[in-house]
Amino acid sequence: MSAPAYDVAVVGGSIAGSTAAILYARAGARVALIERHKSPEAYKVLCNHYIQPSAVPIMRELGIPPLIEQAGAPRTLPVAWWTRWGWIEPEPASGGEPLPYGYNVRRETIDPIVRRIAMETEGVDTHLGTKVTGLVREGGRTVGVRVGKDGAEREIRARLVVGADGRNSSVAEFAELPTKSVPNNRFSYFAYYRGDVLPKSDVSYIWFGPDMAYANPTDGGLTAIACAPGKHHLPEFRADLEGAYTKYLSRLPNGPDLSAGERVSKIIGTTDYPLLDREPTAPGLALVGDAALCSDPIWGVGCGWAFQSASWLVAATSERLHLGPGEVDRGLAEYRRVRRARLRGQQFLIADYAGGRPMNPIERQMFAAAVRDPQTARHLHRYASRFMGVREFLAPRVLARAGLVNLRHRLRGGAPSPPAAAGPGGRRPGSRSSSTLPPSDARTTRRSPVAGSDQQ
Ligand SMILES: Cc1cc2nc3c(=O)[nH]c(=O)nc-3n(C[C@H](O)[C@H](O)[C@H](O)COP(=O)(O)OP(=O)(O)OC[C@H]3O[C@@H](n4cnc5c(N)ncnc54)[C@H](O)[C@@H]3O)c2cc1C
Repeated sequence: MSAPAYDVAVVGGSIAGSTAAILYARAGARVALIERHKSPEAYKVLCNHYIQPSAVPIMRELGIPPLIEQAGAPRTLPVAWWTRWGWIEPEPASGGEPLPYGYNVRRETIDPIVRRIAMETEGVDTHLGTKVTGLVREGGRTVGVRVGKDGAEREIRARLVVGADGRNSSVAEFAELPTKSVPNNRFSYFAYYRGDVLPKSDVSYIWFGPDMAYANPTDGGLTAIACAPGKHHLPEFRADLEGAYTKYLSRLPNGPDLSAGERVSKIIGTTDYPLLDREPTAPGLALVGDAALCSDPIWGVGCGWAFQSASWLVAATSERLHLGPGEVDRGLAEYRRVRRARLRGQQFLIADYAGGRPMNPIERQMFAAAVRDPQTARHLHRYASRFMGVREFLAPRVLARAGLVNLRHRLRGGAPSPPAAAGPGGRRPGSRSSSTLPPSDARTTRRSPVAGSDQQ
């Protein structure tokens, strides 16, 4: 039997697919990168593009950070999380390690950059405007893909097929890979603003609760402002999208001041976005990125996990590609193990929270302590940056410290924690508010959409 034309056929030339193609080719593989869009400048529109710190090491390996920074992408630090106990503003310990940062970068900026690196990598043949229409299978094994371009169909054969074709993965469907779907009881809308709309223009904000919101300064001098309400808000949004979006954001404690800027995009979003978790491998085939696991957008993990899952797959399989199907499948089993170990716990918590529930007692303990204790705030930041698993996040010593912090706080009479320095709520002179609101004030002076009854 003649050797296949390629070692790897990667379906989808976005973040996960381009990453896989670059890393396989650098490891010496011949790669077909197959993307249905014709233009190398194509990008994903429906994405808020907060890229987690956990993805930065692999982004560095690909050479991306200098290119996106040159294009104006800000880092994701400082961050400020509003909780009903006050603001969490993680800062490095004095003389300690800097906190990890990620990037806020629009997909129209980063997608063409990553794709271009892939297209220019020796060993990658890019097939733009080419849609995968089926799998080629022999003896229960995937040995290639069928593709269509300009009305003509043909086969591309490879030792391994990688489905990096996103949430509605055709590769997963053709391979009949089982999919677990978890309902998401929130929906989300976002828009871009130009101007001084945030209390502090360099801070990435999250308003945390059963109803959520976030605001991220991004490239192009723009700020992406998103809301993620529970589905009970849907009728208001359906009746008057702009009105409901503006009203929701205007109720946030020390939230964005939309009147201080100009909206320069439509308000876009999605009203139903169940989480999807697929079996990630089959003989001769693997899924990466959203094709394997499409998480809840509110946590901003999808792009980071797209970079990371592609790199885990390449690490587990690239040296086995020429050792026969059995070895390739052993590599796939290794990828499955690594992916599961890295993501299962985090995804479990994300899926549980997607139901729209208020925080559970452990989460309340941790978030309240993070408002009051810089060490717990740093720990929370590292977890939220996706650098640690759930076991480390909720280790007994961490919970014990959080409990002690909150107990001391109660013994002191439960006074609101003092705002850090100027606080993320510290407003520019002349704007609406000039001090950080303690949570009790926040509830009385500006009714927050962040509902629930989390007391700690
Ligand atoms: C509202 C919203 C907000 C979000 N905000 C964030 C955020 O802040 N941070 C974050 O990290 N993530 C966010 N995400 C998630 C993020 O967009 C995805 O996780 C990410 O795009 C996954 O990348 P990917 O490469 O796996 O897939 P995609 O980016 O979806 O790329 C799939 C590629 O496959 C191609 N393709 C599909 N089918 C075929 C075919 N048959 N043949 C050939 N090519 C094909 C597509 O054209 C596309 O280029 C958000 C998502 C939503 C919906």
